[in-house]
Amino acid sequence: MSRHAIDVRIDELAAISSEPDRLTRLYLSPAHHAAAKLVLAWMANAGMTAAIDAVGNVVGRYEAAQTGARTLLLGSHIDTVRNAGKYDGNLGVLTAVAVVERLNADRLRLPFAIEVVAFGDEEGVRFPSTLGGSRAVAGTFDPQLLDEVDADGVTRRQALVNFGCDPGGIAALARDPDQVLGYVEVHIEQGPVLDTEACPLAVVSAINGATRGTVTVAGVSGHAGTVPMTLRRDALVAAAAMILAIEKRGSGCSNLVATVGRLEIADAATNTVPGHVSFTLDIRSPRDDERRAAVDDVVKAITEIAGKRGVAADVGLTYEAVAATCDARLAAHLAAAVAQLGLPAKLMPSGAGHDAMAFRGRFPFAMLFVRCRGGISHNPAESADSADIDLAVRALEHFVRALQPA
Ligand SMILES: [Zn+2]
Repeated sequence: MSRHAIDVRIDELAAISSEPDRLTRLYLSPAHHAAAKLVLAWMANAGMTAAIDAVGNVVGRYEAAQTGARTLLLGSHIDTVRNAGKYDGNLGVLTAVAVVERLNADRLRLPFAIEVVAFGDEEGVRFPSTLGGSRAVAGTFDPQLLDEVDADGVTRRQALVNFGCDPGGIAALARDPDQVLGYVEVHIEQGPVLDTEACPLAVVSAINGATRGTVTVAGVSGHAGTVPMTLRRDALVAAAAMILAIEKRGSGCSNLVATVGRLEIADAATNTVPGHVSFTLDIRSPRDDERRAAVDDVVKAITEIAGKRGVAADVGLTYEAVAATCDARLAAHLAAAVAQLGLPAKLMPSGAGHDAMAFRGRFPFAMLFVRCRGGISHNPAESADSADIDLAVRALEHFVRALQPA
């Protein structure tokens, strides 16, 4: 399959949407079903035995040279956000199908089977939780999730039945970790690093862990005309100092990112000194120790600033996800495959979550990032060059051809 053929398929998939003029393909929607059928046909065409599983994943299997061999999982997701770009997820499925297509064209069987999985529930737009498809494969799908409801009051269980799935079969989708060589996912970077560095591909080191929270700052509100500057306890000015401290700490380590994405001023008015402010905190890093140290430092800085400015500050941490570190052996093999193309084997963390992280603690996983223009993603302007896609297919092909079951 030429790179142009992947471009054609990307467009064919992008045309399958629940909305007329933009790409929206939520989990278990009729559009998702149509896309799943199309992917299934491509898998079959590439020499795979393909079916839709009990949780709505499309799974294509390309048998090994001998029976009893272990399985390498490849893939990504085909659900999308609302008004999505066409490469997010879909590219990883199509590159994997393309690689199997090439093996099949060469009549080449490997010492392991390959299963390409098109996961259906990565974006988490329809139901409150996410990664349902990959968690089922990991064996960590919580059956209570079947009672979750979407915005129309439809349960996950009913949506599965409507899709043609048997929710009772989900538990059986769990892969035996001893039988899985690993999972490898190609994905657009969804950020600007590769484009900025003029680098087409990167091997992912880890999917960042994250801490989120809310900071509330209580000062004293007052009349903007009558309270002298020296007698103020302005919560917003204190918050501004805290936000700058957060930015400064976030800039202290190369892979750490710290963000204040939301700020609320209670009873805000032009002629009022702000007395009560709250803002969010989002700190991520591929290293949990680095992230936790940053969180501690940020809390300390907030407390100090509050003390100096005579305001009260409270930090409430609401969410913590540990980092999902990619397997060193698989990542090294991917780096070798990239180097074989004469490209720098750049290593970088993933700031966004992916299906791969569902396999943390179950079996090894690795990821290959593809440059996307301007780093734009979750947006119709999302774009990846045909030449880069071709490199990704070639790297993945080198990888599977060279991989030996350990
Ligand atoms: Zn994605």
